Amino acid sequence: MAERIRLSKNFSLSEMVKSSTAERLRVDNSPSDIHLVNLTHLCINILQPVREQFGVITINSGYRSPALNAKVGGSKTSQHCNGQAADFESFSTPNPDLAKWITKNLEFDQIILEFYDGKDPNSGWVHCSYNLMGNRKKILTALKTKSGVVYKNGFVSK
Ligand SMILES: [Zn+2]
Repeated sequence: MAERIRLSKNFSLSEMVKSSTAERLRVDNSPSDIHLVNLTHLCINILQPVREQFGVITINSGYRSPALNAKVGGSKTSQHCNGQAADFESFSTPNPDLAKWITKNLEFDQIILEFYDGKDPNSGWVHCSYNLMGNRKKILTALKTKSGVVYKNGFVSK
C-alpha cells in the first residue's frame, strides 16, 4: 500500500494506520476504500484544523482493522474500525483544552476526553470521530475507576 498518500496537508495515510501492536503481531491493518474515504474526512474536518490551531499533534491510534481491534481489546462497535475515529494528543496544549476547542469550533460525531487525571495536563488523550452520514456532537469523559472504565456525559473531572 502506498502509505505516503497524503490525506490532508499535514497527515499521511501511514500515521493513520500505524500500530506497534499490528507490527509486533503481524496483523494486517489495511483500510478498505470506504475506510480510506472516512479517514480522509476525519483528517480534513478534525485533525487538520486541530493541527493548524495548536501545532503538531501525535496520533496514538487511527484506523484499526477488526483483527487489530480484537488484539487491542477495543469495543466491537469502535469507530476506529470504520476509519472514523482517532486518538491524539498535544504535548504543548492540555488535552481538555484541545477537546473543548473542538466542541466549540468543529463539526464532530463523538468526542471523548479519555483518562485525563485532572492534574497532569498531558495525561490521557482525546478520542474524536467524524461521520460523513451525520454528526451527533456527543461529548463524553472516560474515567478510570476501581471498578473499570466509566463514561460520563460532558467534560468532567474526577
Ligand atoms: Zn479512540
